[in-house]
Amino acid sequence: MTPSLLIGNWKSNTTFAEAESLIDAAKAAQNATGAEVWVGVTPPFPWLMALRERIQDSNVWIGAQNCSATDMGAYTGEVTASMLKECATFIIVGHSERRAYYGETDEVVREKVARVLEQDLHAVLCVGEVLAQREAGEAEAVVKSQLLAALEGYPEDRLYRLVIAYEPVWAIGTGVAATADDAEEMCAFIRGVLDKRFGDSNHIIIQYGGSANEKNAAELLTKPHVGGLLIGGASLKPEAFAAMIQAAADVAE
Ligand code: PEP
Repeated sequence: MTPSLLIGNWKSNTTFAEAESLIDAAKAAQNATGAEVWVGVTPPFPWLMALRERIQDSNVWIGAQNCSATDMGAYTGEVTASMLKECATFIIVGHSERRAYYGETDEVVREKVARVLEQDLHAVLCVGEVLAQREAGEAEAVVKSQLLAALEGYPEDRLYRLVIAYEPVWAIGTGVAATADDAEEMCAFIRGVLDKRFGDSNHIIIQYGGSANEKNAAELLTKPHVGGLLIGGASLKPEAFAAMIQAAADVAE
């Protein structure tokens, strides 16, 4: 069975000193697990190179929170996937905060997925509905449309480079997580969409994200279609993140 994949998304948080101690705590927590759990963190851009050195003796992966839709060129302020390849193994693409605050459309998200693949990195593609869409019974249609748009032209021989994070927008940073049953239902639905799109999508990990924490992690991870967690706020608390890693190990045993 594929191990659970837990990714801590630090967003625009941490001083460099805080980042160093968070990564040390993540390393220790990952080392302490008896079962295999895959752990990644996405620090802010300026910390990536230094933290890459700090994880050399561990199995913790460093990722980026975003990348440019273009490759190198006259694009002031943009950070390209080709630059991130020097220090990251995966890149989060299409996070709802990027879509909502920076106007990222499905087309931009698709371009970013393509840039990530060009560099042989892994893409963590975020999809999810807003509350009004869920209340209107449109959640599955929204998620399906985001998925198919972002994965248009996605090569079938690179499925192992793809992670999908189902992140209902109403659950992100609100303290109100989806129930484990709701997360399971949508992750199962996503599996169905991916199977239809690619034939067999077993190589693709499907995570849940949205107010996941040390209290609800075990229940979420027990669900058969929930292959891991994308964790915002709780990943900034070393004890909480460590407890979630341990919960994933316990579920795996
Ligand atoms: C996120 O931003 O991806 C996220 C899941 O945040 P939180 O865990 O804080 O809801």
